[in-house]
Amino acid sequence: MSALLPPVRIGILGGGQLGRMLALVARRMGYRVLVLDPTPDSPAGQVADRQIVAPYTDREAVYELARACDVLTFEFENVDPEAVRALQEAGRRVYPSAEALWISRNRLREKRFFRSLGLPTPPFAPVSSVDALREAVRQIGLPAILKTCEGGYDGKGQRLLRTPADVGAASEELLSSEREWILEAYVPFEREISVLVARRADGQIALYPVCENRHEDGILLETRFPARIPAPVARRARNYARRLAEGLRYVGLLALEMFLLPDGQIWLNEMAPRVHNSGHITWEAAYTSQFEQHLRAICGLPLGYTGARARGIMRNLIGPFDGARLHGLEALLEVPGVYWHWYGKSEVRRGRKMGHVTVIGPRWPVVERLLQQAWSRLTWRR
Ligand code: AMP
Repeated sequence: MSALLPPVRIGILGGGQLGRMLALVARRMGYRVLVLDPTPDSPAGQVADRQIVAPYTDREAVYELARACDVLTFEFENVDPEAVRALQEAGRRVYPSAEALWISRNRLREKRFFRSLGLPTPPFAPVSSVDALREAVRQIGLPAILKTCEGGYDGKGQRLLRTPADVGAASEELLSSEREWILEAYVPFEREISVLVARRADGQIALYPVCENRHEDGILLETRFPARIPAPVARRARNYARRLAEGLRYVGLLALEMFLLPDGQIWLNEMAPRVHNSGHITWEAAYTSQFEQHLRAICGLPLGYTGARARGIMRNLIGPFDGARLHGLEALLEVPGVYWHWYGKSEVRRGRKMGHVTVIGPRWPVVERLLQQAWSRLTWRR
């Protein structure tokens, strides 16, 4: 397939911060951008050429977006895979594929797919009834995490089971829910890491250095790039990401989250068939950002160099309570080596990702000191 060169039109399903950063970079490269999102003036809509305001489930609107664009992509995985499949069958360029979306939408399907490629995961078992939960706990042991198979993100829809009493309480919840669940062993990881990989339709692959992530309550707080892990471990993590991208015959940028265990084993947690929060750091700390890389991959352009040009830490600005206001931006910007990102969301809500701060520098102690300085200048107030 021929390369899609600017100024062709790129359609993005989803108008959040990921779509916004994709749109900003697409426009820098000379592309035109259309966004579909139900909220008028969405973060991505603010920087796109045009936003179609409609629910994601509105197939007509999705088809309208596809007709108006030369290539269509997504900023999240809760897209109707059937609409994507129909567009692909109609010969439209839509990336990533309906299959990758379909697999990633369901944790059980996803973990089974990892295993089918010979990739290691934490022990897990499907849970669709109280009996199945009891059997799963017998197999896996405690502590364990019960997760909904679909619809959870940022730690939502998850429950840590430590004791038989927790299992009892979870059984009650199971009885009153129609949902499908998965029980996973609780992993006493040493670190959480992720790998970003991009693949083009002709099979060209580019792997990034490994990211190191810190979460709190299931939400990503901070990413370091590159991860402070031994080279053989990084090679293994990157190799898993390569095998996954090849196994899916993936097109675009894919993020793979993993647990690194104290004995050096790596277990796969989940994948995201899109640009990813842990990849924001590549905007400043890598030669090619994940956003540009995704666009290059879906447009059939040569993939960019993924090397780190500095050490960097990205920290998310997460709303501490509804209606909070952030103060201190001017003081923050006095700190050298600091980059500021704000997503333009209409209001601050508790747990909502509002923006992020990135600091890069030549050595970790420098980066840590500057981040500490920058961070201490920000305060959330009523
Ligand atoms: P997830 O939505 O599955 O990515 O989970 C969000 C976060 O919860 C992860 O990044 C971990 O910090 C934590 N977590 C999820 N699954 C497990 C597990 N099986 N063992 C330990 N921590 C987990």
